[in-house]
Amino acid sequence: MHAKAKSALVALSAVLLASVAGTALAADPLIGFSPAGSDAQRALEARFDANLSAADIQARHAEMASGPNQIGAPHNKANAEAVLARFKAWGWDARIETFDVLYPTPISVSLEMTAPTPFKAALNEPPVPGDKSSNQAATVLPPYVVYGADGDVTAELVYVNYGMPDDYKALGRMGVSVKGKIVIVRYGAGFRGLKPHLAYEHGAIGCVIYSEPADDGYGAGLTYPDGAWRPGAGVQRGSVVDLSVSPGDPLTPGWASVKGARRLLVSEAPTIQKIPVLPISYADAQPLLAAIGGQTAPAAWRGALPLTYRVGPGPATARLSVKSEWGTKTLYNVIAKLPGAASDQWVLRGNHRDGWVMGASDPLSGHEAMMEEAKALGGLVKGGWRPARTIVYASWDGEEAGLLGSTEWVEAHADELTRKGVIYVNSDNTGRGLLRADGSFSLQRLVNQAAAEVRDPETGVDVRTRGQAAAQVRAASSGASDPDRRIAKAVAEGGDLPISPMGSGSDYTPFNQHLGVPSVDLRYAGEEEAAGVYHSLYDTYEHFHRFGDPDASYQVALAKTAGRVIMRAADAEVLPLRFEPLAVRVEIDLADLRGLAAKTRDGDVALNTLIAAKAFALADDPKDGWVAPAAQPVGPDLDLKALEDASARLKASAGAYDAALAAAASLTPERRAKLNALLQKVEFSLTAPEGLPGRPWYRHVVSAPGLLTGYGAKTLPAVREAIEGRRWSEAQAGVATTARALDACSALLDQATALLKG
Ligand SMILES: [Zn+2]
Repeated sequence: MHAKAKSALVALSAVLLASVAGTALAADPLIGFSPAGSDAQRALEARFDANLSAADIQARHAEMASGPNQIGAPHNKANAEAVLARFKAWGWDARIETFDVLYPTPISVSLEMTAPTPFKAALNEPPVPGDKSSNQAATVLPPYVVYGADGDVTAELVYVNYGMPDDYKALGRMGVSVKGKIVIVRYGAGFRGLKPHLAYEHGAIGCVIYSEPADDGYGAGLTYPDGAWRPGAGVQRGSVVDLSVSPGDPLTPGWASVKGARRLLVSEAPTIQKIPVLPISYADAQPLLAAIGGQTAPAAWRGALPLTYRVGPGPATARLSVKSEWGTKTLYNVIAKLPGAASDQWVLRGNHRDGWVMGASDPLSGHEAMMEEAKALGGLVKGGWRPARTIVYASWDGEEAGLLGSTEWVEAHADELTRKGVIYVNSDNTGRGLLRADGSFSLQRLVNQAAAEVRDPETGVDVRTRGQAAAQVRAASSGASDPDRRIAKAVAEGGDLPISPMGSGSDYTPFNQHLGVPSVDLRYAGEEEAAGVYHSLYDTYEHFHRFGDPDASYQVALAKTAGRVIMRAADAEVLPLRFEPLAVRVEIDLADLRGLAAKTRDGDVALNTLIAAKAFALADDPKDGWVAPAAQPVGPDLDLKALEDASARLKASAGAYDAALAAAASLTPERRAKLNALLQKVEFSLTAPEGLPGRPWYRHVVSAPGLLTGYGAKTLPAVREAIEGRRWSEAQAGVATTARALDACSALLDQATALLKG
């Protein structure tokens, strides 16, 4: 204990030293700029900061969040028009781009228990005292999820915890099947669309998803309006589309939903669920769960409701009915440009504007930070500045249903984006807390340099230093993981805060994982309390103003952070990309894959030995009806040599490029243009034209949302997911695909190095 505390202190003092170095760094040249260019850029950024106003953010934010904002809502369209008018007033070249998409809305939804005692679920969120915004029942749609199936089913209930793959394994061990049943699962542990997907695969005919108070209700904190957390009647809406197969309009996977476009039939759409799904509150879930009998649920499955959690099946029997209007709705993306003075390369920035109801935190907190950047950039233009590269800002519609607005736009402009896109900066919701950055590892240096010059509103240090301190504290805790310790060691040695790999769940996905535009998702989080009202009627401006970011100081911090990244990417003499962090991360992930393959094989051998010895039959309580797991075919040894070679080449090529760039004196404009054209292509080379196995829309070989996590990232996914699924020949093919993309990346870096060396 003492030793630990001491090493934490040593590490922390290293952080403080690093933070002194960070202050010195403020005078260092910015990545991609000459020393003189850096000074000019910092002066520009000081003028940008002076244009930012928390009061302006709050005034717009309150207005934007004053009515329901889902796809097709009149208030969402009015917001699009207001956003368009603002961009124009601030000097941007702006327009609305529309797409027509499938967007079903509920005609009727109902859930009742028919046995052992009748109960009808309320499926209604009443207004909360003191929150005027929540008092708009007439214009709010009933709680629902989008892209479940229509249906009217009656069956016994089975409780399956989070409804994720391990939960079905555990249920199988208990000898309980969901075939022909309705499952009731809690929110959390993975993307909500996986819950009905997996339930259907296991034979269920309906899926009810409830918000468990242990996770985001009274178990987590006082409930709204006393505190921030989910009240008894609060419901989490959401999309249940198979996001990890492809986002966007389910009827146009891979092409744009423009007028006259080919469309699948609803029955053909691979990402729409096959069974009816309904989200409910914990007030509605409690009588259902209390009436389920059978075995007591495993300890980890129990929540905070005052009842014994049991798995069923039955005797609780429920009737679930969902009927929707399967119509087409129009999306309104607002696209605004500041034309570049010297280059037609595009620097892109976006945040979605649509919400499930009012959407004050998700997404308008981030949206209004982005709009404040747009206002400040417009101010710089009025003062005579022109960005060197073209800046494109986007207010996306239809994100909540499955990244519709951004995906359709990217699919419509894919060729142009492939030729011109140099970076996409995303945000979504934001609030009090620490800077979080998920994205392309080549942007790590750029993001760290920007973070080192943004002051944290609460502590007064820069947000990078605060992030480093938090990383040290996390690594010193008893629950620290190996990556936590690795990160702490790196930052203690003065290294950058690593960027996390991208999963999915916001609009960066089409840019990065489909096309290959270097992308980063930025937010401040960790101290805001928004999880309890996530996707409910109670995500209001009143709630955000109390619990999200009361003085909008973190919204301003987000505008400063994202604004710096955008302005530096727009004006850098050489594109601000560094590939050593990519090479280092690939090396780490490859070592991890090697361990995963060995662990999977060893685990399967050990399991099969236990099964052969009838160990489960002997160990399990014979009165409980336990069932031994099925034997696993043991896979062959995976040959990772091609990937190891490609990883080593990437490291050498990235190192050589960095060294050549550092050694290069000044570049002639022609050579600089050639270098930038090469660098623009590098991240695109990390995509495989044939896409990932079973989901060709996802093409990035470095990271993807997990097929069985949905939001969570999987690195080197073509190999990792095949190992996890024990598809060994697919894993071997994934080694070749991934190695080929890494080699293409190395070849481009070698060309860039050769160019620098003249
Ligand atoms: Zn969002």
